[in-house]
Amino acid sequence: MIGGGPAGAATAIACRRLGLHVIILEALEFPRARPGESLPPAVEPLLQHWGVESVLREYSWSRYEGIWSSWDGSMGFQRLGSDERGQWRGWHLPRGEFDMRLLEQACFLGAVLLQPCRALSVAIREGKIVGLQTSEGAIEAKFVVDASGGRHWLAGKLGLGVKKVSPLLLARFGYSKIGSLSVKANPVLQTDDMGWTWMTPIDKDRLAWTRMRFDGTLEAAGWSPGECGYDEGNEGNSLSADVTWRCVERSMGPGYCCVGDAAVVLDPLSSHGVLRALMSGFMAGQTIAKGGVRRAGKEKLFSEYRNWLSEWFQRDSFELKTLYRRLPNVASWLASA
Ligand SMILES: Cc1cc2nc3c(=O)[nH]c(=O)nc-3n(C[C@H](O)[C@H](O)[C@H](O)COP(=O)(O)OP(=O)(O)OC[C@H]3O[C@@H](n4cnc5c(N)ncnc54)[C@H](O)[C@@H]3O)c2cc1C
Repeated sequence: MIGGGPAGAATAIACRRLGLHVIILEALEFPRARPGESLPPAVEPLLQHWGVESVLREYSWSRYEGIWSSWDGSMGFQRLGSDERGQWRGWHLPRGEFDMRLLEQACFLGAVLLQPCRALSVAIREGKIVGLQTSEGAIEAKFVVDASGGRHWLAGKLGLGVKKVSPLLLARFGYSKIGSLSVKANPVLQTDDMGWTWMTPIDKDRLAWTRMRFDGTLEAAGWSPGECGYDEGNEGNSLSADVTWRCVERSMGPGYCCVGDAAVVLDPLSSHGVLRALMSGFMAGQTIAKGGVRRAGKEKLFSEYRNWLSEWFQRDSFELKTLYRRLPNVASWLASA
């Protein structure tokens, strides 16, 4: 497993629950910084299913029931939804800490963690993937899982195509002190002529924000949601990420698999990044375990995983396009998508 983020940890948890040996390589010491503090309600039943819902226990104070959004003009509150058990609620949580807890669960279940350890190259013998060269030496493996995030490490090494379905999109993100127009329990999504801003309270004094412009350029480094009246200045430096909508075309094949952002990236408005990392990891773990006991029919299993992921990608990109189409100022941006 290359990477110990949510995708790598979820794959390791599924593989361990299904009796496979797992080694996780993680290049950074944890907790490491990661954007993406708002998690949708669906993460809870998923983590419950795999017996690791305790990672959410610390965050029971930080639930949200909906989003304040100005997408359709004036600011209004949109509830997340409900069922017979009541109102659905998402989570705000410090991602670095959440990711560390999930990785601890994988280790508790028996995964071996090498940290810090960086994957350097893929070992291939007689046309077959047989392991990895790492900063700590060679490791043999029957299956290599890329969970290393949006730089698509394995796709680059194996020459797998990465299909882009949007123009270049860049997001700036950072942290601010909450100001007088404070973001309380629920996140705020604010649009203007140039782009959108997402603001999430992560404790009583601080909010995490993400800003994306519609024209593909990056907001200046000193930008802060103070521009929208929501904060009193940034804490630390803001960072940026390429959030162009893209997916690896053959995300699973003989001896390898891509999960999480290593397989699919969409801009953060989709709010599914961590959910997709978890689901693709659990799904990949199940597929690898099934493949291990089969002599034939592995290609069918691999293509089922690829189709499942690609259909999800298409559905989410369609929904994002529909959402963006409702804004008059992004019509030309969409025309080029
Ligand atoms: C600005 C922004 C805001 C976002 N907001 C949200 C949000 O509100 N909600 C949400 O659900 N999602 C959000 N996302 C998306 C979310 O952050 C990602 O989808 C999620 O982190 C993907 O998890 P992952 O495990 O695939 O990758 P990552 O979390 O990126 O983990 C990859 C790990 O691999 C390690 N690694 C990389 N290369 C190597 C190597 N060669 N060897 C060993 N280890 C390696 C890295 O150190 C890292 O720990 C946001 C993204 C951005 C950019």
